[in-house]
Amino acid sequence: MTIETCERCGKQTVKLSTCKYCKKKMCVSCIKNTKKVAKTTTVHICKGCWTNMKTRSEYKSYRSAVDKLLRPQFREFGERRY
Ligand SMILES: [Zn+2]
Ligand SMILES: [Zn+2]
Repeated sequence: MTIETCERCGKQTVKLSTCKYCKKKMCVSCIKNTKKVAKTTTVHICKGCWTNMKTRSEYKSYRSAVDKLLRPQFREFGERRY
């Protein structure tokens, strides 16, 4: 077990998550939101990036982009049906 330091608030913890957008390792209290986009992929966004409209909307649209990738058969089925 290694103690790491949060790159945002300086808190020392064993569990840090990396923000997908600024690539900094942060503690749970600095991570604003986390979502699972695939079985093995989890995306984190920090509070700093959350206040940035650009990264925030990127984060929000990330799920739908992955959803489409994961379920192309649904879309195709719906679109091709007569
Ligand atoms: Zn922190
Ligand atoms: Zn960030």
